[in-house]
Amino acid sequence: MKKSGIIAAVLLAVGALCVFSGRWPIGKPHEVSGENFRLGTYVKLRLLGEDKNFFEGELAAMDGEIVRLEGLFSVNIASSDISRLNGAGGEWVKVTPETAALVKRSLAIAALTDGAFDPAIGRIVRLWGIGTPGARVPKPAEIRAALRSKGYKEVTVRENGGECYIKTPPGLWLDLGAIAKGHVADILKERLAADGVKRAVIDLGGNLDLVGDSPEGRPWRLGLQHPHKPRGEYFGVVEVSDRSVVTSGPYERFFEQDGVCYHHIFDPATGYPAKSDFDSVSIIDRDSALADALCTALFVMGRVKAEKFLEKNGGLAAVFVLASEDKVLVTPEARKIFRLTDKNFTVDTIGGESP
Ligand code: FAD
Ligand code: MG
Repeated sequence: MKKSGIIAAVLLAVGALCVFSGRWPIGKPHEVSGENFRLGTYVKLRLLGEDKNFFEGELAAMDGEIVRLEGLFSVNIASSDISRLNGAGGEWVKVTPETAALVKRSLAIAALTDGAFDPAIGRIVRLWGIGTPGARVPKPAEIRAALRSKGYKEVTVRENGGECYIKTPPGLWLDLGAIAKGHVADILKERLAADGVKRAVIDLGGNLDLVGDSPEGRPWRLGLQHPHKPRGEYFGVVEVSDRSVVTSGPYERFFEQDGVCYHHIFDPATGYPAKSDFDSVSIIDRDSALADALCTALFVMGRVKAEKFLEKNGGLAAVFVLASEDKVLVTPEARKIFRLTDKNFTVDTIGGESP
């Protein structure tokens, strides 16, 4: 299924780069880029530097790595670790160490967010089918049957002599859709660092990673998608180097029935699309998996719980668009890098004192 794609549009600094590998004036880097449909979205990779031939091989290897990881984590691939687990009916399933590590990380973030992010949401996701041709509003009894009262707490990961196993109770399905793209981005960044690539843009549709600084030697400038306007129109910009910028919002995947919009971010407590105070949540962090999962969690929490979470877990750079009024909320950490461009909005601080 096509995932409606990029949430952070790369602005001027990136727009000035040439696509593919045309020669730049002296001192400017080459760019080698590629685009493929992966992880249910358009994945765009851009490498910048001098070694064009090396970059072409590196791009192909990165794409191969994405395909391999998708083959482990996707619920849409029958042979993936996660699909095998979901079909195991309560038995222990041997998985790759990579899947075990991501599931363990997911369980830790689920605990941190008190279950607002819950990787055990799989049956609810499948039931609603949002983003698929079979999207529908399920009957309340179907939702009750698919809901897990203990959720992620029922998932067990065991490591034994280098072998990894996971057990889930019958009827509990995992879904890593809210964290796996961030995790894949983190793995790609590790690879680029090991291979000495100093500048790159990894765009996994909603998860944007900026490696190094822009070719002009300044931070990259990114526009944050306006949740109520066409794709590419933004309400503000952030200036960042070596950071992941991740956004979650209800406008990405939804369907409408009888005038009601049903979106793809679920409240694990109810099994219904989360009724959030936010129209979008963006997080800027080095750790893309964490940013991905927390965006989803903070959206589910809504304003009051999100504010408490931010006060308890200080130092997070996050930008929220409120649903009910033309207002943007930024954490003190985000205020340092965020600039409002849509003058119809006002900005307030959340999760700390105004600087
Ligand atoms: P996010 O807010 O980051 O995540 C929302 C997604 O996470 C939902 O779609 C759901 O899957 C899950 N979720 C919802 N609520 C919660 C919650 N409270 N806690 C935890 N998780 C929740 N899309 C396709 O259409 N076809 C594909 O074949 C396909 N394959 C994919 C394979 C992989 C490995 C991954 C990572 C994604 C794939 N996708 C595919 C895309 C996926 O279904 C989601 O649309 C996407 O991951 C949502 O990302 P987001 O950034 O828009 O939203
Ligand atoms: Mg997410």
